[in-house]
Amino acid sequence: MNNTPHPSWATLPADEIRRHAREECDLAILPLGSIEQHGPHSPAGVDDFNAIGLATRVAERTRAMVLPCPMYGSHPYHHWHMPGTIPLSYETHIALITDIVRGAAVAGYNKFILLSAHGQVSTTTVAVHKLGLEGYFTLSLHWYDFLRDDRHVLEDYMWHADEAETSMGLYLYPEYIDMGKATKGGGQPLVDHRFVIAPGQVPQPGMMYHFEGTFARPEYKELENGVIGDPTRATREKGEQLVMTVVDQISALIGDIMSRYPVGTKPPVA
Ligand SMILES: [Zn+2]
Repeated sequence: MNNTPHPSWATLPADEIRRHAREECDLAILPLGSIEQHGPHSPAGVDDFNAIGLATRVAERTRAMVLPCPMYGSHPYHHWHMPGTIPLSYETHIALITDIVRGAAVAGYNKFILLSAHGQVSTTTVAVHKLGLEGYFTLSLHWYDFLRDDRHVLEDYMWHADEAETSMGLYLYPEYIDMGKATKGGGQPLVDHRFVIAPGQVPQPGMMYHFEGTFARPEYKELENGVIGDPTRATREKGEQLVMTVVDQISALIGDIMSRYPVGTKPPVA
């Protein structure tokens, strides 16, 4: 019945989903991305495809269950009104995540990982804490946090529709990437770069994460081609190394969680 090499909720019958939680692994991964313009060379589903690609590889390794990706995501204010981008309101996205975790728990899952390949801590963090009040063990992971200063692979930090995301696309779904249309992008913060943490950068004292301030001009006014960073530097080999680095680290995290709280054991959140 299940033709994928990883445990996949959407392709399994309910009794097999319950057996998996009872006997194999009671940790479920919810891949989260967005429907967002990613420049002229990449599809609008980049973040979803990256999240699904990472989650399935982690699940092949750890036997965690992969929940269906809801495709739409939440966005910082400066993404709104950009053609091709369809943001969910913050309240909708928080409700979506909390409802999915509550529903998955009914089948016997006791641990949850939200795996985002898109910057949306503004909603995932709130969802995690709402769920914590209800006793659910939930972690919100953003892929670029597992690549802190991975400069041996990349020439720049992780931005948007850039070297990093396009490299992952060339590795995971090259049929949707057109490198002939890849051009360097723009985007400058309203405060000096030294006060702002780039995604994937190791923070220095006094730096703000990009969700901690309204220091970006709206993309539809700021960006000519929708790109921040330089996708022309992207290669399939870089994408493979990025994917493997993230998969290694998240798999190690899941290994630690499952060794502390074996199948059938709920971490004592409540
Ligand atoms: Zn993206």
